[in-house]
Amino acid sequence: MNRLKKIDEILAGCRSVVILGHVHPDGDCVGSCLGLYNYIQKVAPQAETDVYLEPFQKEFAFLKGADQVRHEFDTEKTCELCIVCDASDRERLGKGAEIFDRAGRTVSIDHHKTNTGFAGQTFLRAEISSTCELLYEMMEETQMDREIAACLYTGMIHDTGVFKYQSATARTMEIAGKLMAEGIPFTDIIDRTFYQKNYRQSKAMGQALLNSRLYAKGRLICSVLTAEEVERLQAGSMDMEGIVEQLRLVEDVEVSAFLYEKVPGEFKASMRSREYVDVSETAAFFGGGGHARAAGCTLRGSKEEVTGRLLERLEKECLQDGRA
Ligand code: 5GP
Ligand code: MN
Repeated sequence: MNRLKKIDEILAGCRSVVILGHVHPDGDCVGSCLGLYNYIQKVAPQAETDVYLEPFQKEFAFLKGADQVRHEFDTEKTCELCIVCDASDRERLGKGAEIFDRAGRTVSIDHHKTNTGFAGQTFLRAEISSTCELLYEMMEETQMDREIAACLYTGMIHDTGVFKYQSATARTMEIAGKLMAEGIPFTDIIDRTFYQKNYRQSKAMGQALLNSRLYAKGRLICSVLTAEEVERLQAGSMDMEGIVEQLRLVEDVEVSAFLYEKVPGEFKASMRSREYVDVSETAAFFGGGGHARAAGCTLRGSKEEVTGRLLERLEKECLQDGRA
């Protein structure tokens, strides 16, 4: 495990930096990439810094620097230093992998226990609830400002379910308090980026809840949206956020799984657990990754095949706690 360095030290005279996140960027990914971008602009203004990310929800557009993010991956781009936030393996970089491969130096800042050590230098803390929280520890407190704080706070609330997951610690709350002290509009950030749903998201949630079925004596719940249903709902991958968390709230459920068909025959699976099942193991088994209580992977085949494969493993895991 690498001793945590300050970002300032990692930059050390560097003149060109590229910041990358993971495919289908979530709140922690966008928050950490933009928090880091704003920090570098401040402490190393001489460095030419670019952020490359796939398109993300427009609710994150209020964060400073969001309008500077490049969504077209420049395949010719070269840089001295590439810093990757919140991504556990090279595959997760999507088209960013080409830029990563050409960088002089690569650094991964991450909190996924499934991190493969794919970068030259890895700053991994799997016990920390979000990459944003980890990033805070790597910043000089004296450089903190309202804009950087808003980015980090956004990531922290997304990866802790607004501070309710087991991963949140006293230190998480302490850091959140310091970020609040910068004068961020925290109520707005929580409402607009976490709880608010647009009409499509609300309909997709409704359909997914209707499609859900219970397994393993009610300890496992699974729902699937087929490509046809996704199309009928006019929903996209950005409209599926929050569904798997909602499913987990059903009484007595230990594991929730939500799958949607991105293109025919390819399903994105999200899993969440409450107490004793480590869903990252199942995700890793199918080539994905994540955390003990939140993980995901992509599965290929027909709806029946993929759900069959996934549920077989999850059912066993759910029934393995010794309870009758
Ligand atoms: P979600 O279910 O919200 O997409 O992801 C939950 C967690 O699992 C996140 O930390 C995310 O980074 C990770 N994750 C989701 N899908 C994949 C995947 O296909 N591969 C890997 N390595 N991690 C994933
Ligand atoms: Mn994260």
